[in-house]
Amino acid sequence: MDDATLRRAFLDHLQYSQGKSRANSTDLDRFFALAFTVRDRLTYRWAQTQETYSKVDAKRIYYLSAEFLLGRALANNLQALDIYERSKELLRGAGLELSDVLEDEPEPGLGNGGLGRLAACFLDSMATLGYAGYGYGIRYEFGIFEQEIKNGWQVERPDEWLRFGNPWEYVRPEYAVPVNFGGRVEGGIGANGEIVARWVDTQQVLGVPFDTPIAGFRNNTVNTLRLWQARAGNEFDLKVFNDGDYVRAVEDKNSSEVISKVLYPNDQNQAGRDLRLKQEYFFVACAISDIVRRYKKTHKTFDEFAAKNAIQLNDTHPAIAVAELMRVLVDLHRIPWDRAWEITVATLGYTNHTLLQEALERWPVAMFERLLPRHLQIIYEINRRFIRSVMARFPGDDARVRRMSIIEEGNEKKVAMAHLAVVGSHAVNGVAALHSDLLKRDVLRDFAEMTPAKFSNKTNGVTPRRWLWSCNPRLGALITEAIGPNWVTNLDDLQKLAPLANDASFVERVGAVKRANKADFANYAAKTWGFRFDPDSMYDVQIKRLHEYKRQLLNALHVVRLYLDAKRDPSALAAPRTVLFGAKAAPGYRAAKLIIKLINGIAEIVNGDVDLQGRLRVAFLPNYRVSLAERIIPAADLSEQISTAGKEASGTGNMKLSMNGALTIGTLDGANVEIRDAVGPENFFLFGLTTEEVTDLQRTGYSPRAVYDKNPRLKEVIDLIGSGFFSADDPSMFRPLMDNLLDHDTYMLLEDFDAYVACQKQVSDAFLDPRKWHAMAVRNIAHMGMFSSDRTIREYAKEIWGAEPVKVELRPYDDG
Ligand SMILES: *Cc1c(COP(=O)(O)O)cnc(C)c1O
Repeated sequence: MDDATLRRAFLDHLQYSQGKSRANSTDLDRFFALAFTVRDRLTYRWAQTQETYSKVDAKRIYYLSAEFLLGRALANNLQALDIYERSKELLRGAGLELSDVLEDEPEPGLGNGGLGRLAACFLDSMATLGYAGYGYGIRYEFGIFEQEIKNGWQVERPDEWLRFGNPWEYVRPEYAVPVNFGGRVEGGIGANGEIVARWVDTQQVLGVPFDTPIAGFRNNTVNTLRLWQARAGNEFDLKVFNDGDYVRAVEDKNSSEVISKVLYPNDQNQAGRDLRLKQEYFFVACAISDIVRRYKKTHKTFDEFAAKNAIQLNDTHPAIAVAELMRVLVDLHRIPWDRAWEITVATLGYTNHTLLQEALERWPVAMFERLLPRHLQIIYEINRRFIRSVMARFPGDDARVRRMSIIEEGNEKKVAMAHLAVVGSHAVNGVAALHSDLLKRDVLRDFAEMTPAKFSNKTNGVTPRRWLWSCNPRLGALITEAIGPNWVTNLDDLQKLAPLANDASFVERVGAVKRANKADFANYAAKTWGFRFDPDSMYDVQIKRLHEYKRQLLNALHVVRLYLDAKRDPSALAAPRTVLFGAKAAPGYRAAKLIIKLINGIAEIVNGDVDLQGRLRVAFLPNYRVSLAERIIPAADLSEQISTAGKEASGTGNMKLSMNGALTIGTLDGANVEIRDAVGPENFFLFGLTTEEVTDLQRTGYSPRAVYDKNPRLKEVIDLIGSGFFSADDPSMFRPLMDNLLDHDTYMLLEDFDAYVACQKQVSDAFLDPRKWHAMAVRNIAHMGMFSSDRTIREYAKEIWGAEPVKVELRPYDDG
């Protein structure tokens, strides 16, 4: 770890790992050389961490997730090892800038949005707190698509993140796992005369694990993210021998290897495709096999399985784990059903992430029958026993039995994966207080009535290492100067900043940090896209997946309202604004893509209008992703969290922005409720319908057209967009968007429009008083302690996993 050794290691990796001389090395070579230097040091701690876990037989926590939206690792790992500053100096000595090297890292975007990013924050927190945590997922060859904007439209390009190789992963072919699909189930007789099921004539795929080190913050713990890649199975070789059609056999390899080819780009929407179900079973089967293999190394029976392993299901994507663990215990290890069921339920926990119907996974029984016939049998048996228990509890309540069944009747029979996950888990949680309440009142009401103790809330959090310390070094340094450095791993310490909201000089320095971050972002935006932003204007930021429930369109309507007012009277825009959007739309989601086109249409008109004297600017920032979030968030003044109440489960973008001193304009939805409680209502711009008002209005009959007819300021905005003012080439382009608002307005934009515009006026007024604004920002930062994912993980560990941290003592380096 000393300077001379680090320098030597970097130069050696350049020469011997990259095979380049210093003179002919490229930027990418230098990135790889530094990454390998860091990886060596992580690997040393990694091996000792895993040895320690084995030695103390630690309770393992397995986080199963179809998505891990990690973002780049190099800066994070340098920070974790506490060699960031020295690496900067050492590179300078070689005439290199660390910030340039960091920019050459390809970005692993193996997730869509909040759910995948949560999984990444949880890995960071588990390692930092010292829990024996493992992530299990899929090594997608193509992660979330790259977004380009062409003529205002979103265009998708494949994300070839592995094109130049990935320095962080180790492939472990020796732990490859065979995974079966299809075939049929035979009944046989076991050694003791019992009936046993045999799943035969299957097609086999191999899961090959790739391990990525997950470093704890300066604590010597290095945990493992194990991602599985699909390879053609062993029977492939056999086939070649048998039918002699060698070339066709090689071609067939593809059909198994596509399983880990691409991440489905649907956020909050079920993909509903064969291949998606195969992906889900593929990584779950690999994970369960790996977990059982590790456990069996040191345990003869399954008696301690649940005491030594906790498996957390990140949404229903891995819910097939319920049936798979039962299959492994009953079919492969001959554990009696009742005992296997006890073990399964005691091991599994399920986190629900959505109330949206269209996001709930329901797989056709016919598809299950074809791909996973044994699992379907097991699910039927689980359901038979479960239904019996419901009937015993609520005799004669047939409607309830029908509602709770894991098998949904109807035109097409379906397996309700959320029901399977709830029945097969000992703990079920929502991700914010409001969301957990709504789960119990609405989507999972019958289940909560039957087993109330299963249900709890675990409000999401974000890692302060990436989302404050690393992405906002200026603010981090200022906070450390004021309260010391412990906040990085003990975010509650930020409370000590609260009194400083009344300290004019501290508030001014927080303002100066924000101003500098805004100037940085303006430079970046100019260089990257040619945008021109005024760092003295308010940066009004909405960054998240594009979805109608998140209401980017409401934000756009407000921008048009500002535009019309400023057009008549430029002094109406006393506080100049730069309205920034960043969002990917699912490639098949037409309305979402049209909203992107509309935002770009508005930007073109607004930014080109000299009457506004540059006081209003609008920009759609292409290819929103973790690394872009890390640049925007430190520069944001206003955080838009404006979803229809009751639709956003938690949100985590809201936490990141507030933690970096942005003020929130938001509805009472998801974790906004708790953010507002924490920072105080006077430091939060609240507007809009409550969840109850939304449901009441839906029940009594909502007429968006009546709202429009009565509101001339809203009508003017809708009519202007509908008239083609922002789409001169095709005047009717946005008509469908406006007609949909007038006829349906599922997310009640029109109903909330007036309240939103009025609230935005309060925001503008507040911004005109910088001292007041930045004091509010300090009060936001000071009360963000509870939104650290460290707090969230401690709650999961204590209340769901029953796990304790494990200390890793590093042996002194022995180079003999
Ligand atoms: C945090 C984050 C999200 C989640 O944002 P929400 O506003 O909570 O929806 C999505 N994408 C990226 C890249 C993120 O970093």
